[in-house]
Amino acid sequence: MLVEIMPLGDMEASIKREVSSALRHVYGMEISFQETREMPQMLYEKSRSQYRAEGLLEFIAQNKKADKIIGVTEEDIYYTGRNYVFGLAYLGGSACVVSTYRLEKEIQREFSDKTDKEVFIERTRKEVVHEIGHTLGLEHCSNNRCVMSFSPTVLDVDKKEEYLCGACRRELY
Ligand SMILES: [Zn+2]
Ligand SMILES: [Zn+2]
Repeated sequence: MLVEIMPLGDMEASIKREVSSALRHVYGMEISFQETREMPQMLYEKSRSQYRAEGLLEFIAQNKKADKIIGVTEEDIYYTGRNYVFGLAYLGGSACVVSTYRLEKEIQREFSDKTDKEVFIERTRKEVVHEIGHTLGLEHCSNNRCVMSFSPTVLDVDKKEEYLCGACRRELY
């Protein structure tokens, strides 16, 4: 399966590498990069200083050339009825989006020896694996260690691992 990564706006090369490496590592996917695009300004909601995730997902899907595509942005995104989301995907869809904004800015976390940067990278890898998991038909998992568990806060993200639990893995293959 070929998955495209679409950087939306400026992004550190190291983050692009982590996104690619997480998908190769967990799913064994082949990865290609699309050129960096600007965030579509029509999706910007001035009153909230956030972008609309649904519209973003449509924009990303329209530019898909491979089996799946994932858009990654450093901007803050929201979904109807939620103050913010780390990402969005439709079950079994072809596109998904991940925002690293809150994964980086919300420094709240439990004590560990890891640096803020290491924690940020781990969170990003997990959310990327999570959203692509939805496009592969995986729903939320009740195992809070599983990467497919629902994680509305960064603390939930920190609790889970980068990997699919056995039950989720069996659903895939
Ligand atoms: Zn989810
Ligand atoms: Zn699971």
